[in-house]
Amino acid sequence: MAGTEKEVAFIRGDGIGPEIVDNSKRIVDAAVGKSGAGSIRWVEAYAGSAAEEKFGNRLPDQTLEIIKRCKVAIKGPIETPVGKGFTSINVRLRLAFDLYANIRPVKYFPGIVSPLKKPEGIDMVIFRENTDDLYRGIEWKYDSAEAGKVRDFLNSELGTDIESDAGIGIKVIGKAKTQRVTRIALNYAINHRRKSITIMHKGNIMKYTEGAFREWAYETAEKEFRDRIVTEQEVANGASRDGKILLNDRIADNMFQQIITRPDEYDIILAPNLNGDYVSDAAGALIGNIGVLGGANIGDNYAMFEAVHGTVPKYAGMDVANPMGMLSACTLMLEHIGMDVAATSIKKAVSAVLEEKIATKDIARFLGTEAVGTKEFSDSIIAKIKEG
Ligand code: NAP
Repeated sequence: MAGTEKEVAFIRGDGIGPEIVDNSKRIVDAAVGKSGAGSIRWVEAYAGSAAEEKFGNRLPDQTLEIIKRCKVAIKGPIETPVGKGFTSINVRLRLAFDLYANIRPVKYFPGIVSPLKKPEGIDMVIFRENTDDLYRGIEWKYDSAEAGKVRDFLNSELGTDIESDAGIGIKVIGKAKTQRVTRIALNYAINHRRKSITIMHKGNIMKYTEGAFREWAYETAEKEFRDRIVTEQEVANGASRDGKILLNDRIADNMFQQIITRPDEYDIILAPNLNGDYVSDAAGALIGNIGVLGGANIGDNYAMFEAVHGTVPKYAGMDVANPMGMLSACTLMLEHIGMDVAATSIKKAVSAVLEEKIATKDIARFLGTEAVGTKEFSDSIIAKIKEG
């Protein structure tokens, strides 16, 4: 066979996970086969309830070993109970492999009903720093001894006047962590010929965390990518864009109204963890269905690709779930391992199928057409890929 064989780990996950992962794998195999780029050797790893049943552990060491070996994994959604029980397996995987950049493309699919009048221009990619900020979980309950100690220290040593009934959370944003996610966003922009990068921050209020994120992102771009970027300020001063990536920044609250009123003006958004979390779902809502979105979690040595949505337990095993989110994650995976032709053929096939109004229930109900099941929808995509 021409091309190479790539090893990719897969985790089926919980709820609708097994159906969307298995069908996405079939579609990926068809696209890779058709492209002549080689093949994928899928290696199964277990996490979530399937792992609990098989190994008595929701995230067994064996799974971590398989991902270490393959370096690339796709993952179905995994259940996380709210407010009790085990910590999120998703968070544990991100930390174990230092997957510091979360990448989420948000592109409008013709046929899906959006809340916007003109959603056609929506084509953004959000880069969210995945390991820093308030998500580090450094916080203490208002009545804990620790919160008391922190309040006492701050009030007596640093002149603050924090009330005795206040809970404490610490926001941490570091230079090195900002630099590395900025590099990933810039390299992606260059490799994918994107037009602009907008740094989203609330630096007017949080000067030394989000303000610093903005400053370090500009600094990294100007020092390390000088010949590939031009800033909005430089353009205002007369510099030519000359095929370069435009770098600008927007204050977080303004960013939300900008992507709603003028989404076609935004391309790549680079944000610290919390802003990135908020803006990803808001941008997803603009295209009308968050169930079609996929994302990547990337580090220097490992990468994991997953749908944005959860396990939708009520649809588990019913052959009604939409596999598009998982499939979108798979196209990112294919681009990551250099199988771009296969990724493009999947995207084209999905659009062609939707244009024919073939859709799973979540989309068909807005189109006013009869829904097809997960398997039939996937078969239609495979048929389009083969027609090529
Ligand atoms: P969810 O599973 O995403 O489901 C929310 C709703 O979105 C569903 O009721 C359904 O809407 C629709 N939906 C989402 N994806 C769909 C698909 N592929 N096909 C058809 N409909 C889809 O969110 P949740 O109910 O908040 O979370 C359930 C569990 O998933 C929780 O345990 C949560 O922790 C977990 N979760 C895991 C991940 C992950 O592993 N990365 C991410 C998010 C959540 P309708 O009811 O309108 O049909």
